[in-house]
Amino acid sequence: MNTLNQDGVLDRTEREPFDSADREIILAVNDPEQLDYVDALPMTDEEQDAKFSQVAGVSVFSSEGTTEAIYSAAGAVIRGSDLVVEEYYETAFAIIRPPGHHAHKISEGFCFLNNVAIATQHVVDHHHIERALVVDFDVHHGNGTQELFYGSKQVLFFSTHRRDLSYPASKSSVNDIGDGVGLGYNINVPLKKGFNDVDMLYVCDQLLGPVATAFKPEVVFVSAGYDAGEGETIGGCNVSAKGFGTIVRKLLPLSGGKMVLALEGGCNLVHLPICVSHTIRAILGDEDAFLQDSDYRDKLPFKSTIRTVNTIKHNLRLCWDVFKEKPSVILNNSAVPIFVNVFFLVNLYLHYFCSFMQ
Ligand SMILES: [Zn+2]
Repeated sequence: MNTLNQDGVLDRTEREPFDSADREIILAVNDPEQLDYVDALPMTDEEQDAKFSQVAGVSVFSSEGTTEAIYSAAGAVIRGSDLVVEEYYETAFAIIRPPGHHAHKISEGFCFLNNVAIATQHVVDHHHIERALVVDFDVHHGNGTQELFYGSKQVLFFSTHRRDLSYPASKSSVNDIGDGVGLGYNINVPLKKGFNDVDMLYVCDQLLGPVATAFKPEVVFVSAGYDAGEGETIGGCNVSAKGFGTIVRKLLPLSGGKMVLALEGGCNLVHLPICVSHTIRAILGDEDAFLQDSDYRDKLPFKSTIRTVNTIKHNLRLCWDVFKEKPSVILNNSAVPIFVNVFFLVNLYLHYFCSFMQ
């Protein structure tokens, strides 16, 4: 929050109160047993050792206050989605922990409940949204979100991530394109270690832009994980703060600006707040918070990125006409209307994990 304050973001945005998530809304994507599990999380190291020693590898840790934080995090994204869909605000950013994109019917990978998935299902169920786009740019695959919407055509899930990070137990594939009526509505873009702004923006221009334009989402959710960013040792990639700002700028026009972002991963306590600040300032239209076309258009992505994109287009050719004819839709920054002037900010203080708030 210090960085957001120093950058003037707090003065230009609104902060909204929120409640813990309604259990009925959560139960639209989770079983009651999952909530029983969350309600009974251990609060001390001793309890933790006893409870989780038998499930090593799941990577979930809790302490006093974690259960409350889990419900609050989901509640914040739900509240943000209500405010955006009901047009009180154009864009909302829920700055929350714990993250959620690895959670599905079980908790794993520091995620207990899938905040974005719960809010997405909520707008489908209660706001009559027929087309929601979920973009996940965390360096890890959003396996939980994929799992929950794999057979849905109301939710288009698009995940960029590092291809060699099988975490927590995810094996993402370009061939995982959905099932049944949801065929073509799940898009994985596994990229080589070290991918950077040029790779991500190439994927946006070649894949995300065309398919999202064809999908015509009524609202865009963003699982905003920043662990593909510079300085993230676990992520091992090089997306810049301006790069994240540019990605989000490209998403804005897809749904007329209706966007709900929720924080996912990111552990570099220096880089993470800078990325969040750039993201918000990019949406506000600050030109120093995102890249200009000339900054990256003449640079080439990894050859593997180009091959992966071509493979995905081939896999989706029967699902999306836009890939049948091989057109290339470029989302130009200059085409983004300037309309966002208010935000919804949430600050959760947790007792564990890599919260950057001071
Ligand atoms: Zn991650």
